[in-house]
Order: sequence, then C-alpha cells, then structure tokens
Amino acid sequence: AIKIENLNKWYGDHHVLKEVSLDIFEGEIMVICGPSGSGKSTLIRSLNHLEEYQEGVVSVFDQPLSRDSQSHKVIHQTMGMVFQNFNLFPHLTVLQNCALGLMWLRKMSEREAEKRVMGLLDRVGIANLASRYPGQLSGGQQQRVAISRSLAMEPKIMLFDEPTSALDPEMVKEVLDVMVDLAKTGMTMVCVTHEMEFARQVADRVVFMTDGEIVEVGPPEQVLVHPQWDRTKEFLQHVL
Ligand code: ATP
Ligand code: MG
Repeated sequence: AIKIENLNKWYGDHHVLKEVSLDIFEGEIMVICGPSGSGKSTLIRSLNHLEEYQEGVVSVFDQPLSRDSQSHKVIHQTMGMVFQNFNLFPHLTVLQNCALGLMWLRKMSEREAEKRVMGLLDRVGIANLASRYPGQLSGGQQQRVAISRSLAMEPKIMLFDEPTSALDPEMVKEVLDVMVDLAKTGMTMVCVTHEMEFARQVADRVVFMTDGEIVEVGPPEQVLVHPQWDRTKEFLQHVL
C-alpha cells in the first residue's frame, strides 16, 4: 500500500530521517516505536505530505507522491490521520465535526453525510454524544470522534501518531479497542505508539526507530521479545 524509498530529511543541519526505506503491505498493521526525538512523527507525517522531505520517494498504491494536485488527491482519497491531540473544531458538534469533510470535499448532502457519520459513531460507541461539543467530552470520547471523522472519508490507509498518549490511563483502552476492531476489518494501519500490548496483539510488524533510522523491523515477537540491538532492548525496558 505504501512504499518508502531512501527518505532523507534535514532540519537545517540536523539529519532527522536517514535513508528510511520500508514497504507497508495492503491490510498490514505496522507499529512504529522508538525513543522521543527519533523521528517517528516526522516519518509518519511524511507519508501524507504533512511534512516535506529533501530526498526519497513515498509511493501510495504504486503512485509516487509529489507536491502536485494529483498527489494531494491520492492522499485525500486514500489516507486518514489521527493525532495525539484530536484536532476537533471546538465550535462544532460531534456530528458536524465528522460530517464536514463529507459535505465539503465529497459534496455529500447534509442528510447523507449525517447518516454515514451516525453509523460510524454507533460503531465506536458514542452515537449518544452526536450533538455534544468536543469540550463536553472526555479525551477518550474525543479521540473516538476523531477516528470516526477520519473513517467517514472511507480511507484505505489510517495513520495514527500516538493516539492514546494524551489520554488518562483509564481512557486508553476504549481507544485501543476501536483500533483493534479497525485492524480486524483489513484496514492498512500505520501506528506510532508506545502501547506494546497493542503491538503484540495486532501488529503484523513492528519498526523500531532511533536517531532517524530504522534499526529493527519484524514481527512483534522478534522485535519486542528478541531484539537484535542493545538500543532496542534498553528502550523496551523503559516502556514494558
Ligand atoms: P516523540 O516521541 O517525542 O513524539 P518523535 O520520534 O516523533 O518524538 P520527531 O517529532 O519526528 O520525533 O522529531 C525528530 C527530530 O526532529 C527531533 O530531534 C526534533 O527535535 C526535530 N524536529 C522536529 N520538528 C522540528 C522542527 N519543526 N524544527 C526543527 N527540528 C525539528
Ligand atoms: Mg512524535
């Protein structure tokens, strides 16, 4: 689904992505972990061009992406993203937040958009909150709204950048449960997360990054249980 070839990015003279190459297959659940500052967000944000890079190629469904409008169309039609801090519009209700993209970008009628959104809110267990505003919701509920909003656009690939790390511990599970369900639907998912239990249960492969480089990639039992690198072992001792 995504092919990353020899990606390099610098901030000034700080080399933050170093020759990163990775193939993510259709339907694959890929977990990216690694210490703070290792380049995880920069990498995942490069996949949908929220971040520019100086060298390398990212292809989505065999289409190499550039800055042209055709690439942006491919990105909008195939990829959804969920962030650590939800990024909901505070002055719009849950329903309006989720329906907006369908009405503006997909030219759906309000009625049609709201019908689709209500189905998704129901699926993530918050249909009863449709007329509330984000400020009236818990973090876990807000994150489920953000996931519903992305799913409303019917992406083929979902990108998650630490979707649970801004949540109180008791709300982490309700968001992870939604992600686990989503993984079972065959969605291609790229998840930056430190939730190693999630990685163990649902990841097809885990990537360990450090200092802008991918140092390990493989099935969870290989990377998490029998890491080859001391750096990975050290990191795992902190998060497990
Ligand atoms: P975390 O776990 O803390 O989210 P991360 O692995 O996501 O970390 P990135 O946010 O990708 O790390 O940052 C990678 C490196 O790039 C870091 O050293 C960071 O300081 C640097 N960096 C990130 N954004 C910028 C920026 N806008 N300008 C300059 N340097 C930046
Ligand atoms: Mg980050």
